[in-house]
Amino acid sequence: MPGPGYAHFGDEEEKNILEVVQQWRSASGSFGVPTAESQIDRFTAEAAARFAAPYCVAVNSGTSSLLTALAALDIGPGDEVVVPGYMFVASIAAIVYSGATPVLAEIDDSFTLDVSDVRRRITSRTRAIMAVHMLGAPSAMAELTKLAAEHGLAIIEDVAQACGAGYQGRPLGTWGDVGAFSLNPFKVITAGEGGFVLTRDARTYQRAFSFHDHGFLPGKLEVGEGDLLFGLNLHMTEFSAAIARAQLEKLDRILLRTRAVKRAFVEQIPQRPGLRRRTLHDPEGECGTLAVYVFDSADAARAVAGELGVTVLAESAKHNYARIPALSALAAKDRPSAPFRVPLAPSAEAAYRPGRLPRTDDLLGRSIALAIGLSDAYLGAGFGVTVQSSPGEIDRAAAGFRSALDRVLGS
Ligand SMILES: *Cc1c(COP(=O)(O)O)cnc(C)c1O
Repeated sequence: MPGPGYAHFGDEEEKNILEVVQQWRSASGSFGVPTAESQIDRFTAEAAARFAAPYCVAVNSGTSSLLTALAALDIGPGDEVVVPGYMFVASIAAIVYSGATPVLAEIDDSFTLDVSDVRRRITSRTRAIMAVHMLGAPSAMAELTKLAAEHGLAIIEDVAQACGAGYQGRPLGTWGDVGAFSLNPFKVITAGEGGFVLTRDARTYQRAFSFHDHGFLPGKLEVGEGDLLFGLNLHMTEFSAAIARAQLEKLDRILLRTRAVKRAFVEQIPQRPGLRRRTLHDPEGECGTLAVYVFDSADAARAVAGELGVTVLAESAKHNYARIPALSALAAKDRPSAPFRVPLAPSAEAAYRPGRLPRTDDLLGRSIALAIGLSDAYLGAGFGVTVQSSPGEIDRAAAGFRSALDRVLGS
């Protein structure tokens, strides 16, 4: 059971999907998708309403949502985008494929961007900050938006892991200039695959729409007001939108459940020396899909991870900058191994080498993530509970974690 949305599949998803099949059957012989009942149009309207964002564009993946965000903000060759060293490789890949230069920054104790380190990485070429809300919890958005405003930078929020989370009562994805979401099965809600972007700016919306749909203007117009761009085809499908609509309607229920299961689990883990939970910039706002524990020592973290059959976060492939071979190849100037030619400053190349983010390395080496409704071996979260766990199952998982702690840290 990857994510909590997956576990909530039911009659609503089935009804919406059948509606599309029936529409298409009755429209047989005519070209194209019937627009009046378009699931995509309904999904974008419903998502915009749910997150209180003026505009939404639906796309076929979270990666596409990031690419769309960068294109919408006209970010490209010569520009630098600051991104945390703990993210998902897609966050960096999207920057690379926009032609811009990713600039790695340290994470703080919340496992999201360290604002003071971001400030140090700003140069005359910096165009944007990509805040990646890792493991269901918000980045320090008030501080980041203030910093961005001071330097005239855009903010892209990568909300792939934190759909439905908020910060100071405002939904993530609406703090920045563009919010980019994923609907893959390992996320809070899922449409199989899919994603969407939110923005409050009309021109950014127009560019996002054009980029995801062959350069058409919103409403699929060929002529009108707006920037003329080459677009790609990054559409969400009607089938995905049908599922996404059903899932979006369940989002609040799903979050109530993950947060309740998390409370039931973590309150059974007494505080003890050598161990703490990660800091949260807004404890009320997180999704509650994972519980992150930070040990004083890397040895203890590794030993407890071993007891639970999982790995420390430093080992999580494709989330730790030091574990992304394509980045190391780029640092080594191994250009043939990287399918792109980014105009990198020499200093940027060196900055991709493992070891360049010592605080991030240290923190990831001492931490584990337990599954609370979202289990993903790539994230390291292979031990824990699901949204379907009974009280007894939650008790047993907590007891298992406590005894692993006792064996390693002493009882
Ligand atoms: C999952 C994820 C993505 C990519 O989403 P896809 O839908 O799989 O393309 C991007 N960023 C982060 C932080 C993610 O966790």
